[in-house]
Amino acid sequence: MTADETRIAGLVDAMTLAEQVSLLAGADFWSLPAIERLGIGRLRVSDGPNGARGGGSLVGGVKAAAFPVGIALGASWNPALAQEIGVALADEVKSKGAHVLLAPTVNIHRSVTNGRNFECYSEDPVLTAELAVGYITGLQSQGIGATIKHFIGNESEVQRTTISSEIDERTLREVYLLPFEAAVKRAGVWAVMSSYNRLGGTYTSEHGWLLNTVLRGDWGFDGVVMSDWFGSHATEDTVNNGLDLEMPGPSRDRGDKLVAAVAAGTVSAATVRGAALNILRLMARTGALDDHRPHVEQAIDDPAHRALIRRAGAEGAVLLANDGILPLASGVKVAVIGPNARVAQIMGGGSAQINAHYRVSIWDGLSAAVGEAALIHAPGCRSDRFQPILQGPFKTEFFANTTLSGAPVHVGEMPDAMAFWLENVADGKVKATEFSVRLTGSYTAEASGIHLAGIRSAGFSRMLIDGVQVAEAWESWAPGETFFEEGSAEMTGSVDLMAGQTCRVVIEFATKPPKVLAFAGLAAGIGRPLGAAGIAEAVAAARNADVALVCVGRNADWDGEGADLPHITLPGDQNALIAAVAAVNPRTVVVLQTGGPVEMPWAGDVAAILQVWYPGQEAGNAVADVLLGHAEPGGRLPQTFPLRWQDNPTRSQDPEIYPGLDGRVRYGEGVFVGYRHYQAQGIDPLYAFGHGLSYTSFALSDFHLDGSGTASPTVTLRVTNTGSRAGSEVVQLYVTPADAPVPRPARELKAFAKLHLAAGESRTVTLALSRRDFAWFDVVARHWVVSAGRYGVTLARHAGGADWQASVTMAAAAWPASAG
Ligand code: BGC
Repeated sequence: MTADETRIAGLVDAMTLAEQVSLLAGADFWSLPAIERLGIGRLRVSDGPNGARGGGSLVGGVKAAAFPVGIALGASWNPALAQEIGVALADEVKSKGAHVLLAPTVNIHRSVTNGRNFECYSEDPVLTAELAVGYITGLQSQGIGATIKHFIGNESEVQRTTISSEIDERTLREVYLLPFEAAVKRAGVWAVMSSYNRLGGTYTSEHGWLLNTVLRGDWGFDGVVMSDWFGSHATEDTVNNGLDLEMPGPSRDRGDKLVAAVAAGTVSAATVRGAALNILRLMARTGALDDHRPHVEQAIDDPAHRALIRRAGAEGAVLLANDGILPLASGVKVAVIGPNARVAQIMGGGSAQINAHYRVSIWDGLSAAVGEAALIHAPGCRSDRFQPILQGPFKTEFFANTTLSGAPVHVGEMPDAMAFWLENVADGKVKATEFSVRLTGSYTAEASGIHLAGIRSAGFSRMLIDGVQVAEAWESWAPGETFFEEGSAEMTGSVDLMAGQTCRVVIEFATKPPKVLAFAGLAAGIGRPLGAAGIAEAVAAARNADVALVCVGRNADWDGEGADLPHITLPGDQNALIAAVAAVNPRTVVVLQTGGPVEMPWAGDVAAILQVWYPGQEAGNAVADVLLGHAEPGGRLPQTFPLRWQDNPTRSQDPEIYPGLDGRVRYGEGVFVGYRHYQAQGIDPLYAFGHGLSYTSFALSDFHLDGSGTASPTVTLRVTNTGSRAGSEVVQLYVTPADAPVPRPARELKAFAKLHLAAGESRTVTLALSRRDFAWFDVVARHWVVSAGRYGVTLARHAGGADWQASVTMAAAAWPASAG
């Protein structure tokens, strides 16, 4: 036993049962209780994954560095970069006084419409696993715990707290479990978060096979399994089946209930002790055990983090198409058009959102680099899902009842009309699930015309403008896709305003009993439709410029937690905007910001397309670096971009496959996820998995295959930058299976390497395979199986390409899941 193990064993045995039980649930939203009698400190956690938000609410909060989102990191194909980011995030977590980050998110891009795809890396399990291993290794090297999530089957946000994912064991083992397995075995991850959903009818937070047999048994996990927030639904069934920690606190299922269960013999004292030991182990690993400092959260805007985020943004930028217009020649006049031109889109929505130190828009980034005189701007159209949030200040009056009656118990101020009330509401004077509040502020119209007022809430709400009710989600409250499935639809009304007119805005809110997640939320906004005049203005700007840069995409209200996307068409009039601009200026460059693919009916009509996702607080600087050629577009697609939505496997006519039927979603496509599906169906994508162009050119040569017939063949090759500038290339190794008794994908990614090479530079790289890279999972024997035969090996630069092909012979082999 190590000294730490001896120490925590001593501590757990010095505890009373009640003390052990107290460690098995949160004390509040983001921390566990301390046990002062034994000198045990308080473990604190923070969301995750693209920054450390710290304690408190999902909005506001202490400022933090915003890193690129998961899919942008996925597009980097660079595990070493993920590791560097992990190291930097550890500083961020420490600055928030926490010990554990609730990250990374490694669910697979099964459907193109999953609201949380932005937060996950890829449609491919191997690419996901490699990035997760890098990220976790970086974080934990600094003594901060990673919490890989969501375990398992959380590939959509539809009915996410109740739906049952029906996934056969082969598909689980070969695809969805793989990143978690790598995280446990190769990165030694310290914590795992169970998902909200059920797996085969049983909540994952009480799934004995998943948590005890696979995670701890087969893989040897010795860390903490925690529930997703409010994702624990039982006492005995969670504790007995391997869920150590119920989050958040205060506990609903444990505490006295668990003490009583031990007394009744339905949970053994040894099980409680084991779970408490797992918590103490995490505390020892992260230093929380001895952390008695007062809780302080700091906003540290570190120049090294700024530089890393800027570099990472460019490394994830995927140049989808380029007729040679990029990088932009110096001195060109650029029309910077589109809804995302001056509004920085830096992250997705939901629990991953943080209060960024700052947000650089594409306009800001370009004007810092080339000066505003070279640029003209026109927004063209809007892209938002909801009306833009009203900016304050708003005076707030809180009432300790749900009827806004009597004297307020607390008067304060809010910076805008957006709130997530989780705990400590009104300085702790009201309960987060039982209060009402009145916000009073004003709005000044920038232009004349009809404006839309919109309000949505987890709770009841209404908006009054100059004393007249214009929108309400109160009497007409209807469930909508907002606030993690607890909120209403956005309810809108219109109001005619003159430019410069200031009106008084009053918003009233009252709580409503939650379905699952115990919090309250409100968002209210006002916006002006731009209509045909907006596009006409953009067309005029494009005509007068050398280059039209159209900045389009979605935002955090679309790519967010709690709801899936309704489709993959660019929202609003953005397709019409691009078509109209391209029609008058052939030198049109589209900069796309989304958390996944969109249909691009205009793809053949524009000069270049650059996908930059949500790259964090340095967004505009990273984009400007790539557009101007100061940085290489280093990204490759981590997800296939289909030509049409219906080409995606989840867009079959069977609702059971997606979005689910009668509370169940059946992963009927099995292992044929992403490019495996398109290849099996013979569907050509718009842009293939792994695709991305460079500003330079590369030659692959001197291929050499070694170890055919052994369990660990290798492929060696030379990569040469044949162009005149530095750049990066991603070489990808796909395996084509020998005949097997089960249907197998035509190709599966098994290894890859990203190389940064100076002009003319050449490097040799070796890609190693192991027997697992040839294996399929036999659900009857519960064995990994390598069928004897010849396997194809393809080196390519995207899933459909082939720079070199060979074959290797593998002997038959079989081994149990527990043997890797
Ligand atoms: C999310 C988790 C997150 C947790 C805490 C949940 O809604 O699914 O990913 O870590 O909230 O914010």
